[in-house]
Amino acid sequence: MSLYQESRDGVVAEPTGEVLVEVDDLKTYYGSEGGLLGGNPVKAVDGVSFDIHRGETLGLVGESGCGKSTLGRTLMQLESATAGEVRYDGTDITTLSGKELKEWRQNVQMVFQDPDGSLNDRMTVGEIIKEPLNVHNWKTPTERRQRARELLDIVGLKEDHYYRYPFQFSGGQRQRVGIARALALEPDFLVLDEPVSALDVSVQAKILNLLNDLQEEFGLTYLIIAHDLSVVEHICDRVAVMYLGNIMELGPTDAIFDEPANPYTNSLLSAIPEPDPTLEKSRMTLRGTPPSPRDPPSGCVFSTRCPLKIRPEQYEDLDDDVWEGIEIFRAVLRDRGDLSKSVRQRLRDLLGLETRGMDIEEVLEESFGELDVPSDVQQHIDSAVEHVRRDDLQSAQEELETEFGSVCEQEVPENLPVGDTGRTSHCHRHRDEHEGTLDYIESHGYER
Ligand code: ADP
Repeated sequence: MSLYQESRDGVVAEPTGEVLVEVDDLKTYYGSEGGLLGGNPVKAVDGVSFDIHRGETLGLVGESGCGKSTLGRTLMQLESATAGEVRYDGTDITTLSGKELKEWRQNVQMVFQDPDGSLNDRMTVGEIIKEPLNVHNWKTPTERRQRARELLDIVGLKEDHYYRYPFQFSGGQRQRVGIARALALEPDFLVLDEPVSALDVSVQAKILNLLNDLQEEFGLTYLIIAHDLSVVEHICDRVAVMYLGNIMELGPTDAIFDEPANPYTNSLLSAIPEPDPTLEKSRMTLRGTPPSPRDPPSGCVFSTRCPLKIRPEQYEDLDDDVWEGIEIFRAVLRDRGDLSKSVRQRLRDLLGLETRGMDIEEVLEESFGELDVPSDVQQHIDSAVEHVRRDDLQSAQEELETEFGSVCEQEVPENLPVGDTGRTSHCHRHRDEHEGTLDYIESHGYER
C-alpha cells in the first residue's frame, strides 16, 4: 500500500506512482472481419479505459466469459485490438510490429493458470526457463545457464531441479517454473491469468507470497486476473470489476470490497457464500446468465439483470416483487428472440427452474404468481401477452419497454467518480438526479 496517499480522513486516495500502462477506450472483437457466416462480432472487450501504475497490483475480476483473458491478452499484444490504444511507458503498443514488437515483448510477460498445459513436458526445467533467453538471443549460452540457475533460486526451487522434467514436480513447483520463465528477461510488467486457481489452497498462499516478494524485490507491476475474489482481496492494491466487456467499477481494493458502489459489484460480492449460513440475508441475487457478447444490451450492459435498475418515476414505489416479475417477464420475451437456445433451456436459465413445456400462462404465473399487481401494470402486461399470442414478439417487447424502460436501457453510462477514493463506477445511479446505489440498497432492505 506504499503507493497510496493517505487523505486527511485516512481514506486511501489515488495511487501516486508513475503510470506504466494507459488503456484508452480499448475494444477487442472476435470475428469482426465477417467471415463466411457473417453475423455480429463477439465484443469480448468493448471500450475500457484505465491506468496501471508502476509497482502496483491491479486485480481484474468478473464472471467467466466477461472478457478478462481477452483484455489481458490484448495488453500483451497476443490479441490485436479492434480499436483504442494501449500505451506502455508512453508508446502505443497496438501499432508495434516486427522488430519493435519483439523488443517491447521483453518488458512484459504472462503467467498462465495451467502450469501443466503451458510447460512442455519433453523439455527439462532448465531448458524451459532458458527458452525466452534463447528466443531473444540473450548474452552467451553459459550466461543463460547461469541465469536459469539463478532464477530457480529466486522462485524458491533448487539448482538441481535444472535437469528435471515438469511431470516430476507438484502443481505449486510447476507454477514456480512458469514464474521463473516469465522473469527470465527481467520484465517490468506481468499479466497473471488465474495464477493460483489450479492449486490447493495451502499452495496458493505460498505462490501469492512469492509473487508479493518478487514484486518488492524487482519493482514489478502486476495485472492479476482472477475469478476468486478472496485472492484478489488479499493481494491487489486496486480492483477492476468487469462485466460483458466493460469495466463496471474500479478503485482501491478496500473500497470495492467494503462498500461496492456499482450494482454489479454488489451482486458479485453478494454471491460469496456467508461463513455462517444461519445468518439470514436479503441478498441481491443475479437473475439468469449474462447476455451474449455478440448482442449486448443497449444502454448499460448490466441493465437486463440489474437488481437496482432505475425505474420510471411512476413506478418508483411499486412493490419490489412486482417490479422483479416485470423484469423476469421482459427477460423471457427478450430471450424468446434468441434462437440459439431451446425454450426449455432459456426458461431454466432465467428462472432457475426445470420448466419443461412452459407456455406464456405458466411464465406469467412464474413471474407474478399470487402477487397483487396494480391495474395500470396489469393492463400493459395483458396487452403484451396479446401481442405474444399473435406471435408478435417485437410489439410485446416495445410495449413493455415504452412503459417500464428507463435511462438504464437507453443510454450508456459514463464512468463517474464515487466518493474521494479515486474510484469510478459505470452506472447511471451516480448521477445527481438518481438515488445512489448505497441509499437504494438501504431503502430497499438489501444487505451486503
Ligand atoms: P474470461 O477470461 O472473462 O472468461 P474471455 O476473454 O475468455 O473471458 O472471453 C470473452 C468472450 O469472448 C467470451 O464470450 C468468449 O467465448 C469469447 N472468446 C474468447 N476467445 C475467443 C476467440 N478466440 N474467438 C471467438 N470468441 C472468443
